[in-house]
This record gives sequence, C-alpha cells and structure tokens, in this order.
Amino acid sequence: MIRAYHQPSAVEEALALVARGAVPVAGATGLYTGRSRREAELVDLTGLGLDTIGIHDDRIEIGATVSLQQLAMASSLPGMEGARLRRCCRHVASRPLRNMITAAGNVAHSVYWADLPVALLALDASLEVRRVGASPALVPIADATHGGKHAWDGGLITRIVVPRRAGTLSFGYERFTRTATDYSLSTACVTLRVDGSSARDVRFVVGAVSARPTRLVPVEAALEGSALSDDAISRALAALDRELPIAPNYRAPAEYRRELTQVLARRALETARTWAARENP
Ligand SMILES: Cc1cc2nc3c(=O)[nH]c(=O)nc-3n(C[C@H](O)[C@H](O)[C@H](O)COP(=O)(O)OP(=O)(O)OC[C@H]3O[C@@H](n4cnc5c(N)ncnc54)[C@H](O)[C@@H]3O)c2cc1C
Repeated sequence: MIRAYHQPSAVEEALALVARGAVPVAGATGLYTGRSRREAELVDLTGLGLDTIGIHDDRIEIGATVSLQQLAMASSLPGMEGARLRRCCRHVASRPLRNMITAAGNVAHSVYWADLPVALLALDASLEVRRVGASPALVPIADATHGGKHAWDGGLITRIVVPRRAGTLSFGYERFTRTATDYSLSTACVTLRVDGSSARDVRFVVGAVSARPTRLVPVEAALEGSALSDDAISRALAALDRELPIAPNYRAPAEYRRELTQVLARRALETARTWAARENP
C-alpha cells in the first residue's frame, strides 16, 4: 500500500525524502518487480527537471528522467556514441513503454535484461550520484555495483555522462528477442576506435545472459591492435566461448544462449568491421 506519494520539484527536496527512506519512482514500469512495490512512501522524480539531454564537445549528459523514446529519437546526438544510444533504445519493449521507461530507472532497476546498461558499459559511461548535503559524485558505471550494493543506494542517479571519444569510431550491436517486444535472450555490443587499419580501445560487452552486463576483457584483448581480420574475430569468439558467464535462466537452456551469443557477437564484430572500413577507407 502507498502511504505517501511525494512530487517534489527540487532535487534537494527529493534527496531529503530518499535519505529518510522514501523510494524513488521515475517511469514506474518496474514497480511490479521493484523494491517500491512493498514500500509505503514514494518520491516521484519526474518533476525535477532532469529530462533534458546536454551535448558538449567531450561528453553527452543524459538527465535521469530522459525517456528511452527520447533517446531513440534524439537525432541531434552526435557521433558513434549518439548512434549507439539510439540503436540501443529503439527496440526496447514497445513505444508506450519506452515513453515511460527512464534512462536512470533502466540502470537502477538492475534487471538482467536491461538494455541501456549494456550500451553505457561499452561507452565507458559514468553515473552522477547525489546524496543530501553532499557534492555530486561521478561513478563509472563499471564500478557502480558491488556485492548487491549500488553506488546510488540512499541517494539518486541524477545524470548519466557518456564521454565522447576522439577519432574514428565504430560499433556493432546485436540483440535477440523471440518477439518484437520481448526481453532480450542475449545481447552483444562492441565499440572501438579505428587507428589506421587497427582496432583500438575495444570494449566488448554481453548482456541478458547473467545478472548484469559484463565486459569481457579477454575478448577485447584478442581484437586490440588487430585489423579485425577473420582470424582476429575467430580468436575473439574463442575467448568469448571460454569466458562467457551464463546464469541459469528459465527462458532458454544455457547451451542455446551460449550458441546464440556466439552468433550475435560474430554479427556485431562484422558490423563494427564494416563501419570501420567505411569510415576509414
Ligand atoms: C512489459 C515490459 C517489458 C520491458 N522490456 C524491457 C526490455 O526489453 N529492455 C529493457 O531494458 N527494459 C525493459 N523494460 C523496462 C524495465 O524492465 C524496467 O521496468 C525499467 O527499466 C524501469 O525504469 P523506470 O524508469 O520505469 O523506473 P521505476 O519503475 O520508476 O523504478 C525502477 C527502480 O529504479 C529506482 N530508480 C528509478 N529512478 C532512479 C534514480 N534516478 N535514482 C535511483 N534510483 C532510481 C526505483 O526506486 C526502482 O527501484 C520492460 C518493462 C515492461 C513492463
């Protein structure tokens, strides 16, 4: 039962309510599985003015309550980072749901099928976390969760910061669902910088196969400095086969999801290679 529903218009007011135990609510699409279902006091974040996207020379700033539909349609988002974010959000759930799901809610809800965290991890994004009376802290998304504890516990994610990398960039992203609006069974994402004919700063992330998106450094190492040749891609896929963390899941057997992830990873890497060649003929 909901005992109190607060609709603050200032971030500090929302932080004070969260500090005393009230539960933040943004798009409210996760209420049925989230902690807030059992809570009596809710804080609506949608009136805080955190629904804008800022584009700077060195970063993109996404307000906490920017919806996934806003991101999917944001044609002004620049570069590979913008293309990557649009591509990721475009196919999440259905349009009515994307209009409600917020960027920070998708991160904070921490469900294994969440799509935006896969992209954010591959883009080296950070979360701006605020607590009452403290300066905002910027926490790399890769370090934001440890042993079931989140960097935003007791506070709020107020912004997501995506750095813009210099140079020629490329990416590949593949996600498989049984129906157009289903959760992903597996997701593979690669981003890289093209240096001459070599791949640099490779990030390879898999999603939906374990509790959280996972960056696979051995896969990245197999590609780093390579020309993304067939051999390099085969080495990367062999590393993926060794390293892939697959959690038990009622939706499909582990062996199926393992093979599926191999297929998606190959497609993502081949797409990244094609884009890299196009950008750097
Ligand atoms: C049918 C259906 C299908 C879906 N399919 C997909 C899918 O394929 N891929 C996908 O990625 N998502 C999907 N979603 C959405 C996903 O499961 C979550 O419901 C959604 O990400 C939650 O976002 P929200 O903005 O609605 O957050 P809420 O439901 O408002 O909140 C979720 C949790 O995050 C916390 N929270 C919210 N905002 C903040 C903040 N700024 N700071 C700190 N904590 C915060 C809340 O306290 C709560 O615990 C689907 C949802 C539904 C209902």
